[in-house]
Amino acid sequence: MANKRTYITRSEEETFQAGEKIASQWATPMTVLLRGDLGAGKTVLTRGFCSALGLQDLSLVHSPTFSLVNQYETASGTLYHIDLYRLDQSKEQYSIGLDEILGEGSNVVIEWSEKLRIPVKDFLLITIRVLPDDSREISLEAGG
Ligand code: ADP
Ligand code: MG
Repeated sequence: MANKRTYITRSEEETFQAGEKIASQWATPMTVLLRGDLGAGKTVLTRGFCSALGLQDLSLVHSPTFSLVNQYETASGTLYHIDLYRLDQSKEQYSIGLDEILGEGSNVVIEWSEKLRIPVKDFLLITIRVLPDDSREISLEAGG
């Protein structure tokens, strides 16, 4: 529970900016495990990470729900963007090479990380909660 921090954001733009702020403090490579319901803002936050890492074309950053693994070449190295919503079985996660991706020393961001079946050593766990007034509570916790 060390290092816990929380942001409250009131718009998509503020969540994007929170993502930029969070990633500007990373010692890359970073593994980020994202939690939060559909529409919470996981992909918007990831777009902010990519902005801070120097990705030129942020329109590349979309939900990997169907592509399963997106790979962005940022100025700070490769970032893999993964969505485990449809990949909750351990063997499916190995079949997309997730164990290799996690061991590669690249930046990795995982949506629906509650479904992760492969052990990770050091990571940043980020939970996004939709509050009753539709703002978002973004909580950070170091783990591993
Ligand atoms: P997820 O990846 O968690 O399913 P997305 O990032 O794709 O969610 O979408 C979040 C949606 O919620 C966007 O349509 C965005 O405009 C909307 N939204 C409204 N308020 C916020 C907020 N404070 N932060 C992030 N997204 C917000
Ligand atoms: Mg998403």
